[in-house]
Amino acid sequence: MKQVKSVYSAPPMHWVGDGFPVRSVFDYHHLGEALSPFLLLDYAAPTPFAPAARPRGVGAHPHRGFETVTLVFDGEVAHHDSTGQGGVIGPGDVQWMTAASGILHQEYHSDTFTAQGGLLHMVQLWVNLPAAHKMAPPGYQAITADCFPIVPLPAGAGTARVIAGSFCAAQGPAHTFSPLQVLDLHLPAGSQTQIDVQDGWTTLLVVLQGSMEINSSAHANAAQLVLFEPVGDQIAAAARSDTHALLLSGQPLGEPIAGHGPFVMNSRAEIMQAIDDFNHG
Ligand code: MN
Repeated sequence: MKQVKSVYSAPPMHWVGDGFPVRSVFDYHHLGEALSPFLLLDYAAPTPFAPAARPRGVGAHPHRGFETVTLVFDGEVAHHDSTGQGGVIGPGDVQWMTAASGILHQEYHSDTFTAQGGLLHMVQLWVNLPAAHKMAPPGYQAITADCFPIVPLPAGAGTARVIAGSFCAAQGPAHTFSPLQVLDLHLPAGSQTQIDVQDGWTTLLVVLQGSMEINSSAHANAAQLVLFEPVGDQIAAAARSDTHALLLSGQPLGEPIAGHGPFVMNSRAEIMQAIDDFNHG
């Protein structure tokens, strides 16, 4: 059994632009290589927005050296980038964006969502790239809701939607640059389950909604992170109430992390280069 190392509470909500009220459930500035290959997770709990005349969101900004993974549960997010590409991420969809050598993009509520209003509920996860791929060409995987296998957990303990990696013979559609697993878990109140995970991998459980007990030794509520010890190949979860959680597991990259704002590289010199490249277009 993987032992629970720590349970962390997210800091209070902050706004990203004027469209995304998020709590940073984890962040490499605080937890560093213990999260590797994951860097950061911002969670926007369900928030009502009134109809508006102008889309809310965040204007043009760069990224380099990692991937941003946007999971929308409710509402719609539109994106546009410097190469002219764009699209809408709707409920159940995932956008897996490889910023790699660099991308400049905008993230806004979609025109439809802006006009109609409604609940916005989403996650943005940052996944680090191995040094060998940090300067690869940028790319997108726009993965629609119907592409994800949904695996029923034994004894009616809920479901695991497989975003990336494999789980119980199901394969998630997202292509990744290092071995990792992203599972979107729905566990009904009172259910108990054991989940196989890789020995030696970083393993993080992010409770989005609800409340759960882990390994009968720890409990976690909404907007809390459970960080496990790398050793061990199973975790046990029991839902105290209807629970929505993400299980993130991955092989640690074992490379230095140097980050500044929207850039995550391996050295300070590479960060200075990224800032310089951005300033020179
Ligand atoms: Mn962005």
